[in-house]
Amino acid sequence: MCCEEMTVRLHIDWTACDGRGLCTELLPELLDRDPWGYPVPPGREPEVPPGLVPHAERAARLCPTLALRLRR
Ligand code: SF4
Repeated sequence: MCCEEMTVRLHIDWTACDGRGLCTELLPELLDRDPWGYPVPPGREPEVPPGLVPHAERAARLCPTLALRLRR
């Protein structure tokens, strides 16, 4: 399988996110947090390093508004 196909990106649906900040606690290596609790990603749709994919999947699963999605 080509490594390009394995690229995983984190998408945040800003219309759904309500800034509870849970994802910033579950994925602090990738997501910073603004003063209101909203996640601050390093770019528009950041690439998730392979070692963080399980953590990103967990954050997406536990997001209370289902605002996080992983794109492969
Ligand atoms: S866990 Fe979901 S609702 Fe909460 S800040 Fe992150 S993306 Fe937004």
